[in-house]
Amino acid sequence: MAHRKLTSVLPSPQPHWVGDGFFVRPLFADLAFGQEVSPFLMLDYAAPHEFRPSAKPPGVGAHPHRGFETVTIVYDGEIEHRDSAGNSGTIGPGDVQWMTAGSGLLHEEFHSREQAKRGGKVSMAQLWVNLPAKDKSAAPHYQTILKDDIPVVDLGQATLRVVAGAYGETKGPARTFSPVHVWDIDAKAGADLELPIAAGDNVMIALFSGAVSVDGRSVTQAGLLTFGTAGETIALRVTADAKLLVLTGKPLNEPIAHYGPFVMNTEAEIRASIDDFRRGKMGNLEAFA
Ligand code: MN
Repeated sequence: MAHRKLTSVLPSPQPHWVGDGFFVRPLFADLAFGQEVSPFLMLDYAAPHEFRPSAKPPGVGAHPHRGFETVTIVYDGEIEHRDSAGNSGTIGPGDVQWMTAGSGLLHEEFHSREQAKRGGKVSMAQLWVNLPAKDKSAAPHYQTILKDDIPVVDLGQATLRVVAGAYGETKGPARTFSPVHVWDIDAKAGADLELPIAAGDNVMIALFSGAVSVDGRSVTQAGLLTFGTAGETIALRVTADAKLLVLTGKPLNEPIAHYGPFVMNTEAEIRASIDDFRRGKMGNLEAFA
């Protein structure tokens, strides 16, 4: 079977703070919000960071989103969420929150109260997945996907968690609006991975830690790998124990208009979103205090 060729290795950008709770690296770098990564929009990765105990949970206060989904994967620590659709919840290591912002909501994202009190390591990733134009006005929705609900595929020297889509016959729990696969991989040095990729899908692989060799090229620092469109598999050799997030999906092939927390198809829809937010049409959190 033909392997997809590695087309670029984007080095991990410098981290920045989101609120005071998440020290993230925007791994899609300049590709974020572009057609090449569709239907994904961006990926923030917060490597393990030690927090001091604090009575006030660190994080980011009320802010809006419209037109896409946010997917939060926790690796270390506990994160608590609350939104204007009345949803709230706490997720811990291995858990995933798949939030459909759709027509618009306000939410806040903090370390859980317990996490803040005891302090310690927090590590997470947040992926933004675009919605097809016809689904951008979907009602806000929230899927809590606990670690135990995520099937694990044993690949010998690696484990692959199917968060969304499928790996072979194994299906992931997330309900999605367009066909995507999200695989969370932990691999030992020496693992040879051969991942099946559907024709026409875009593929991005985030290397969170460890090292891999692809197409004879050695990637020893965290970053993002992108691949060409021809071929049915991706072949990776793991050269140092690695954590990887594999994202594949069918491109939406629709125009993308993006401004801050809003992702629509046209500039007029962006202006309407800013207006709706200012008029309070995306709800408020106080109603659920
Ligand atoms: Mn948010």
